[in-house]
Amino acid sequence: MTIVGARPQFIKAAAVSRAIRETSGLSEVMVHTGQHFDPNMSDVFFEELDIPRPRHHLDIHGGGHGDMTGRMLMAIEPILLEEKPDWVVVYGDTNSTLAGALAASKLHIPVAHVEAGLRSFNRRMPEEINRVVTDHLSALQLCPTTTAVTNLAAEGVTAGVHHVGDVMYDATLFVADKAEKSSAILSNLGLAPKAYALATIHRAENTGDRQQLLAVVQFLQDQSRKFPVVLPLHPRTRQAALAMGVDLDGLKVIDPVGYLDMAKLLHNALEVYTDSGGVQKEAYFHHVPCITLRDETEWTETITHGWNRLWKQVAHAERREIDEYGTGRAAYQVARLLSGAR
Ligand code: UDP
Repeated sequence: MTIVGARPQFIKAAAVSRAIRETSGLSEVMVHTGQHFDPNMSDVFFEELDIPRPRHHLDIHGGGHGDMTGRMLMAIEPILLEEKPDWVVVYGDTNSTLAGALAASKLHIPVAHVEAGLRSFNRRMPEEINRVVTDHLSALQLCPTTTAVTNLAAEGVTAGVHHVGDVMYDATLFVADKAEKSSAILSNLGLAPKAYALATIHRAENTGDRQQLLAVVQFLQDQSRKFPVVLPLHPRTRQAALAMGVDLDGLKVIDPVGYLDMAKLLHNALEVYTDSGGVQKEAYFHHVPCITLRDETEWTETITHGWNRLWKQVAHAERREIDEYGTGRAAYQVARLLSGAR
């Protein structure tokens, strides 16, 4: 049983789901917690990426972390008792990840964590708490990088740990051609290739505090004096900017886009500015330099290999290719491990 709820999880699950369908002896039941629910944050990914329709949709969103996670726990437990899966597969670091892992492990159902072992070493991030707890509850730790393996070892987690590569790279390769050919987003926005930057902001650390949000927006506005800065605006950031009176003048603000449009925007961007985990790596997959709007990152190899820098660092390191993320077959490794083959 796959438990997902947020945008990056749909994208990662799409890659693994495809591999599960192609691996004999495996079948999948999909549960959607409802954490992300706007059509352009959820449905569009199921349609574009051919993700199986969720058998269970919990429609749980909003409220504080405890409230949301608690409601998810209550709703997931009876589904686990009814479906009796052999594995529960969770992705990344959201409240849906934590609730799925906790509900399953309490019922002694083994948990497989895709994107295990990432650490920012900043426990003020809600995502960091979700990662640490989920990793310690999981029987199978599916790590995207060797740094993730090392992080787990430092916490005493060595059993069931596998470096499989990054399923997001699989997803990027899967849509690359189709996105280039079919997405009309550049002409719709009047943008020329390599003549604009792409930005995303959604982390609580940037949207939860007015001074911080103002500083990030100011950075983007400064860049926008050189070339257009396109900002597909996350609903959380839209709400925060409105509530805190932060104006986004000068930026090319658009609604969140589907994955094909996003791939097209990424591939043709001159630079990427983001606080997203996924977008930092996708910038590298498309060989576009990135500036991360945070004070630390879990994806340290993007920094050491010169494709990314933290916004307060002055320069990128010298560029080298990163071989950590695999060859676009990470999802098949995940499926193979789930099917018990070695
Ligand atoms: N994404 C998208 N449309 C958008 C913004 C992001 O398809 O308008 C994709 C992006 O390419 C990446 C994923 O959503 O694959 C990242 O999700 P997000 O930034 O919400 O979460 P994070 O990666 O930080 O967990």
